[in-house]
Amino acid sequence: MVTLGQRETLIGPCVHGELPGPRSAELLARQSRRESNARVYPQRLPIAIADAAGSFVRDLDGNVFIDFLTGAGALPLGHSHPELVAVVTEQVGLFAHGLDFPTPAKDAFTGAQLSMLPPTMRGRMKIHFCGPTGANAVDAALKLCKTATGRGDVISFQGGFHGTTHAGMALSGPVSTKALVRNGVPGIHFFPYSSCGRCPVDLTPETCTTNCVAYFERSLRDPNGGIPLPAAVVLEMVQGEGGVVPARLDFVRRVRALTRDLGIPLVVDEVQTGCGRTGTWFAFEQYDIEPDVIIASKALSGIGAPVAIILYDERLDTWAPGAHTGTFRGNQLAFAAGVETIRIFHRDDVLSNVRRRGEQIARAFEGLRDHPWVRDVRGLGLMWGIELADPADGRPAGELAERIQTLALRRGLILELGGRHDCVVRLMPPLNVTEDVIDTACTILLDALQECCPSAPSLLGPLRSIS
Ligand code: PMP
Repeated sequence: MVTLGQRETLIGPCVHGELPGPRSAELLARQSRRESNARVYPQRLPIAIADAAGSFVRDLDGNVFIDFLTGAGALPLGHSHPELVAVVTEQVGLFAHGLDFPTPAKDAFTGAQLSMLPPTMRGRMKIHFCGPTGANAVDAALKLCKTATGRGDVISFQGGFHGTTHAGMALSGPVSTKALVRNGVPGIHFFPYSSCGRCPVDLTPETCTTNCVAYFERSLRDPNGGIPLPAAVVLEMVQGEGGVVPARLDFVRRVRALTRDLGIPLVVDEVQTGCGRTGTWFAFEQYDIEPDVIIASKALSGIGAPVAIILYDERLDTWAPGAHTGTFRGNQLAFAAGVETIRIFHRDDVLSNVRRRGEQIARAFEGLRDHPWVRDVRGLGLMWGIELADPADGRPAGELAERIQTLALRRGLILELGGRHDCVVRLMPPLNVTEDVIDTACTILLDALQECCPSAPSLLGPLRSIS
């Protein structure tokens, strides 16, 4: 078998027969016997991965897929970029684990990360290396703000996602998982996000003067508003797991203005949007604001090696030694790859590619706005979502989204779902994806959508009831 290491042989997806193929099926069966039922991706994308390169993944049965899940956003340069493989290989020969001692790789990584901040922020931001997950960095950000302000309450936004630790869950929108573990992190208050499609008071963007943020402002200024001055406001610029919902410009600016006025640290969770995903290094740059804390993780190393950081205003630096420790905070492989990733971003002008390919997707999806089952099409940079709803009653069409995901996989495209009832089909291509790969992927997706909709001839037979 040709391995994906010989990447010039890979020009497109190729799926033979039913999925899963026999070799994948064997591993999937063993996995389901031995692993927890909480596993996620293989439940809907039934493949076992053999190897991967760039935008492509190959399963054990030799099927090749375009991967627009990209490690849930952890692979901005695709799988196993050869230049990243080279620096990781070199670094692993030196040493791999450094706790939080200074090392040349960590020093270079720190410098590279700080250099990517807007110039006005560079001089005043500090960095903390967290345990290597987004959720751990979310925890760190909360602890930092609580320590610095001496306050205990925190504000988050409906529909958001911040991880699956207790604090991450407490800050996140989905309620079913919280209910099951009786999540008890105290003092978290939720406000509506600027998601016009789900306006809690049924306004439309044409008539609304961003009433959601006006409500937020009035509540926090109200001496009888019920919420003590919080330690932090935590915000995603684009809700990713929430179904790819970019916040409105005026919403974000007014949240920033109010938090600054009241002395509340503004924490932006850029775990998913960070490191170029939206077309700027951080998404907040497009909103022309300066946050007090930035949380980053997924794409930092470029190659999927775990690493997570918070970048924060030095005035918040009130922590004592050991305030947020963790064994795995010194991943030298991630640091070396992260430095190389930034070098490649500059050399190849990857951010321009994100913007151009994002415009290409926008053009490909233009016609979808009139599709009866498409409620909305949203995106920023290379983060896109198609929200599906039943035209009969407007209910989220999660089952349709799942069928589209399944059919797209059979045609060679790996997609993610998100949003309420998983009714949003999501695309997260590598940021260095080519025009041809976007073209092929959009064709597969649009065909799958057409075939899965009840009004169109379907390869999969009639839809079951959609709720
Ligand atoms: N914040 C955001 C915005 C995320 O999208 C995620 C993961 N999808 C997290 C936090 C949690 O990151 P991790 O899964 O690495 O804990």
